[in-house]
Amino acid sequence: MIRGPLLLALLGFVLLLALGAGAFLLLGRQAPQRWNVVVLTLDTTRADFLGCYGRPGDPTPNLDALAALGTRFDLAIATASVTPVSHASILTGLDNREHGVRVLSGMCGYALKRGTPTLATILKAEGYATAAVHSAFPVSAYFGFDEGYDVFESFEGVIGRSQAGTMSWPLTELQRRSDDTTAIVVEQLAALDEPFFLWVHYWDPHDPVLLPPEEWTRNAPRGPRGELVMSRELYGAEVSYLDAQIGRLFAALQASGEWDRTLVVVVADHGEGLGDHGWPFHRILYQEQIRVPLLVRVPGLASTPAVPEVVSTVDIAPTVLDYLGVRPPRAMSGRTLRPLLEGRPDAPRTAFADQINGYDLNAAMLKSRPDDDFLYAVVNGSWKLVWRPNRPEKSELYDLSADPGEMHNRFADEPGEVLRLQKLLARHGPWVTAPCHEPDATGVDREAALKILEGLGYAGGGEPIEPRWGFLCPGAPGRVVSDPLELDCPDGVLLVPSAAR
Ligand SMILES: [Zn+2]
Repeated sequence: MIRGPLLLALLGFVLLLALGAGAFLLLGRQAPQRWNVVVLTLDTTRADFLGCYGRPGDPTPNLDALAALGTRFDLAIATASVTPVSHASILTGLDNREHGVRVLSGMCGYALKRGTPTLATILKAEGYATAAVHSAFPVSAYFGFDEGYDVFESFEGVIGRSQAGTMSWPLTELQRRSDDTTAIVVEQLAALDEPFFLWVHYWDPHDPVLLPPEEWTRNAPRGPRGELVMSRELYGAEVSYLDAQIGRLFAALQASGEWDRTLVVVVADHGEGLGDHGWPFHRILYQEQIRVPLLVRVPGLASTPAVPEVVSTVDIAPTVLDYLGVRPPRAMSGRTLRPLLEGRPDAPRTAFADQINGYDLNAAMLKSRPDDDFLYAVVNGSWKLVWRPNRPEKSELYDLSADPGEMHNRFADEPGEVLRLQKLLARHGPWVTAPCHEPDATGVDREAALKILEGLGYAGGGEPIEPRWGFLCPGAPGRVVSDPLELDCPDGVLLVPSAAR
């Protein structure tokens, strides 16, 4: 027998449920689902090396099939072109200035602070099983990426393995090829409870250390002794081999019956120069570096044609949480992509990226590219500004719709656009004005970690440089001060060299 007050409470609860369902119906949206989530981060993978972004010859059939099922974003901008910084934004939905990871190697600013909400920590609190499987050291626990995971299959075990003061770090132990990574993922999938959040990081195109099997590299050029040499063909072969392994992962998801209940995101942390703009690697901010592939497939959602609007990788985490009906514990920098995924209009976005190479102990590239010490990019509409605060006169402005390859710098002849984008940057306030001197609080062997980074090609960059900074209001070039509080700029301050130098 149900007593009066309890009966009333029950009736009230049923009424609330009905109202909730009605509200979703009225809004034309489905109630949130506890879908599984798979996020694949493809390290160093340029958008234009995927078939669905225009590379000829059917080079990436599995990723192209995903794009056909879901949505391809044609102007997705990563927040940096080094691994930990960009990954921090993908996983937290925060801009670099918010999550605080600014360099690959420094005395601070290289690791995600404990307690920073990420997709893993948020979804674990929602009862998700969480797992990560990685392919290289720069996304390991050393960089703070391990929080919130039930299973974190990474390379942290390599750190501190030095014996009696000697260190040997065989390169093959610092990274994993995509076939080995996928084998671990497939094993993990079978053991994961539902719903699950799975982050898989792939590394193959980053460098020519672990190469695909020979049948994949037949068309790649070879050196005088028959050895494979760095080339666009070899890079393309690594991307294609990676795609084949992703096909195995997708097949395992389908075989497990989970495919129709799994939201899939594929994104790269940054691209690679491959000789464009005179540079083979990453760490700068041209489009071949920060315009990344972004594919999203939402279960039950009809495929949307390609999205041409500017979006940022900070939009990924809010999108995932939106579809799951999960409210993040604190505001994210990014904004859900749901309207664009569902073919509806959305307010335009501004994307930001930066490279704090001047304060990065591993930015050896500064020896050959000193002008790239500090780079701050802003993309809005079809315009992109790369601001060099230490050398403002060498800043660059591009009209991406007319000049997607960034061949014609318009900085000198479009002062109106320059000022508009400077104001967006100043309002955003991404400036880093000092190398950090905080003691390292992670408790790991930094010397060993630096050795590992060198092994991965991040050769030592020496001591950080210490430019003297000044500030001014955008559009008011006359007044440079050393304390931004001296200024009362309506749009925030712009970072420039000190007037005194
Ligand atoms: Zn990377």
